[in-house]
Amino acid sequence: MSRGGRVLAPHLAGTPPADPRHTVGIDDAGETPILREYRAVKAGFPEAIVLARLGDFYEMFGPDAEVAAPILGIALTGRNFGNAGRLPMCGVPQQTAVQYIRRLLDAGKRVALWDQVGDVEAGRLVRRAVTRVLSAGTVLEDEYLHPAAVSRCVAVSPGAGRVGVAALDVSTGHLELSELAGGLDTPALAETLQRLDAAELLTPEDSALPQRLLPHAARTELPAALFDTARADERLRLLTGTVSAQGLGIDRVPVARAAAGAVLAYCERARVVLTPELLRIEVHEPRSTMRLDAQTVRNLELFVPLGEHGLSIMSLLDRTRTPMGARRLRAFLYEPLIDVDAIAARAAVVETMVRARDSRRGLREALTRVRDIERLVSRCVQGTATPRDLAAVRDTCAALPDVQAAAEAIGDAAVSASARRCRAPDELLTHLTALLVDDPPATARDGGAVRPGADGELDDLLTAGADARVFIGALEARERERTGIRSLRLGYNRVFGYYIDIPNAQQGNVPADYIRKQTLAGSERYVTADLKAQETFVLHAHERAVAREQALLHAAMIMVGAHAADIAEAAGALAGLDVTQALATVADEGAWVRPRVDASGVIDIVEGRHPLVEEALGPGRFVANACRLDDAARIIVLTGPNMAGKSTYLRQVGIIVLLAQIGSFVPAAEARIGVCDRVFTRIGAQDDLSGGMSTFMVEMAETAAILRQATGRSLVILDEIGRGTSTYDGMSIARAVIEHLHDAPHLNCRTLFATHYHELTALAERLSRVRNARVEVVEEGDSVTFLHRIVDGGADRSFGIHVARLAGVPASVLVRARDLLAELERSRPLMQRAVRDADQLTLAISEPAAHPVVEELAGLDLDALSPLAALNKLAELHERAAT
Ligand code: ADP
Repeated sequence: MSRGGRVLAPHLAGTPPADPRHTVGIDDAGETPILREYRAVKAGFPEAIVLARLGDFYEMFGPDAEVAAPILGIALTGRNFGNAGRLPMCGVPQQTAVQYIRRLLDAGKRVALWDQVGDVEAGRLVRRAVTRVLSAGTVLEDEYLHPAAVSRCVAVSPGAGRVGVAALDVSTGHLELSELAGGLDTPALAETLQRLDAAELLTPEDSALPQRLLPHAARTELPAALFDTARADERLRLLTGTVSAQGLGIDRVPVARAAAGAVLAYCERARVVLTPELLRIEVHEPRSTMRLDAQTVRNLELFVPLGEHGLSIMSLLDRTRTPMGARRLRAFLYEPLIDVDAIAARAAVVETMVRARDSRRGLREALTRVRDIERLVSRCVQGTATPRDLAAVRDTCAALPDVQAAAEAIGDAAVSASARRCRAPDELLTHLTALLVDDPPATARDGGAVRPGADGELDDLLTAGADARVFIGALEARERERTGIRSLRLGYNRVFGYYIDIPNAQQGNVPADYIRKQTLAGSERYVTADLKAQETFVLHAHERAVAREQALLHAAMIMVGAHAADIAEAAGALAGLDVTQALATVADEGAWVRPRVDASGVIDIVEGRHPLVEEALGPGRFVANACRLDDAARIIVLTGPNMAGKSTYLRQVGIIVLLAQIGSFVPAAEARIGVCDRVFTRIGAQDDLSGGMSTFMVEMAETAAILRQATGRSLVILDEIGRGTSTYDGMSIARAVIEHLHDAPHLNCRTLFATHYHELTALAERLSRVRNARVEVVEEGDSVTFLHRIVDGGADRSFGIHVARLAGVPASVLVRARDLLAELERSRPLMQRAVRDADQLTLAISEPAAHPVVEELAGLDLDALSPLAALNKLAELHERAAT
């Protein structure tokens, strides 16, 4: 038999065997004590599913088990607990617990980890404590977080006509405070929560935060008393070591401070550790940035692709090399700037980096060695960093001088200033390098993370253990020699530890000092006093070595944590350098240009492209188009058949404006962008199934919101307004909207309006600042070719039947459709004349207005209507129009 097949290995290989006592089940732990303790813990965390660590498993009991088992897809079992009777129970292995906990969090549950914190001692119940409460907003473990996304715990506190918002990113210790005018139902609050990527929302009990706000975020109601400014100030004083709110620069936002008190109290209870070094507080100034609503974020595909191209603006731009850079890019996209100077400052650095191609490559290269230092430092403060995390801190510290040098090589004052901030205290690198092996293990459980020679005490323990292992390793040969028993074997099992196995035939030769331990069918198992002593030595030395290592690692975490503020500073600078090189890389590779951004009311784009469609089509296939909006031309009415490229064009202008305002280059040959305070979009049809609104109702609600919120400095993009209802209805509404945008004194905003109602082109005759544009098509006989080129002037008719043919509608149906069209055109002479005869355009357009519904509609004072009244009116008009 081969010698390799034996179970001698665990200690000799350096890994201790699982201690049999660790696998103790709840039954063995004694029926009542553990259950009593469990019940006490559960009473303290009634809102959470309590995961009790019992040996190698996390177990759930009673109702928790019943709730969790189906979510986790595991079997629900039961156990008898003496007098308490049988309780439902389920469990997951500790080793793979992360994936199960993730599932519980995804299902909106909270999880309390009730862990073993003391040493396991025979005959005594292990000391346990709740070490973490995990919820969507309080996770900071790497396994649960996306590197490029921030997930924040956000408290919302209404008070005195204002709403305070406090958003804590527990993975980095960054706390943002802001205050908004109004109550819980304002668009500004919805947009703020969206921008903050809130994973969990904390509100005072019974507050009326609308459910439709961030339906995916977990909701947690807290006692109203927690939202209290005085208590918050006290907490902030303790946490920051600063004496007053004034000292923190947050005295201007008392309502937000109340929210901060709640979020801090909540995270404290979740056992998130915050220290003055880690916690960074910032007051957000809404006025300096553009608010983006959910429609625009969606329609312009900023983060989630809509089209089959599968790309979003974020994924296109994300050429960052570090998680900090990716998160900063996300923040840029959520908050385009509106200050011309701030935009110019960003764009100037991007421009320098575009030019410095070689140095930029050097910087990219250096950045690849930088790890997520921002989150790593937070895990050190929590005391949960793994040896690999510490090594990542070490490697990042080691990479910083190269990043600095590469950034300096770009030769730009602003870049060099950032480079100088990319520093970590020397002692960190020195200490971590001396302490850790090059490639430490994933956990500190089994030792092996600390470099030999780093610590005398550890070295001594390891040497002692190694000597004992050598003794045991050599014992088999030695005993064979001494006893003359060739078939003597040394073995190991979890119950008896090391033993000497002697076949029955050789029992007569067993020495007197052998102590019999176990009788098997073909052999007897023995131990010797020496063997047991050395075994204890191995086990003990190993345990003590691991404990010593853990203490050394813990001290290193404290050291890193003490430098959290310096590291945050470096992380901020790294994020800035990284996002800038990413924007420069995209600009360089895509031949983008730096736009001229100014305070004019102009948008002038030469050969603009839609970056996502262009990327999807491949080189040379996208048709570039110009766009000019200025004081004389405020509204472009764009007509053209379906599938011609109208909506691509509209989105492209919106995207170019947003890119320009985050400081990026833009996909165009030239561009001048007069800063927009907002970009509004209403594109495509979306049913709001949850809200029970029809497509048309959604369309109108979105349009109403735009008309209410837009200002003269906004860009409004409207695609196919009125499509969701009958032709006359739709056309009338579309026309009324254009007139309103054109005539309302506070509006007159830059507008792109795409429509397939070619009749609307007549408006340009009456409204001085309306221009017509159309997508060019070439007709040859029965076929139509889309050129995707936008030219001046209106389309003279729609091409629906041609599109139907392209889509493969059978010829007989097409012939019939053409006949019907001809018939309709004959029966509507006014409409027909409108198309053919420019002089009659106004008449044609006003024909639908003769309808009483349209007259009433035109007479409505939209400014005086509340959204609800507007919707009711619409519903009424719609019904009357249909009869
Ligand atoms: P519409 O809004 O007029 O119905 P779309 O904007 O959805 O049309 O465009 C239809 C398709 O035409 C797009 O999916 C794209 O593949 C193609 N397309 C649009 N614009 C262009 C362009 N400028 N160059 C090349 N292809 C384009």
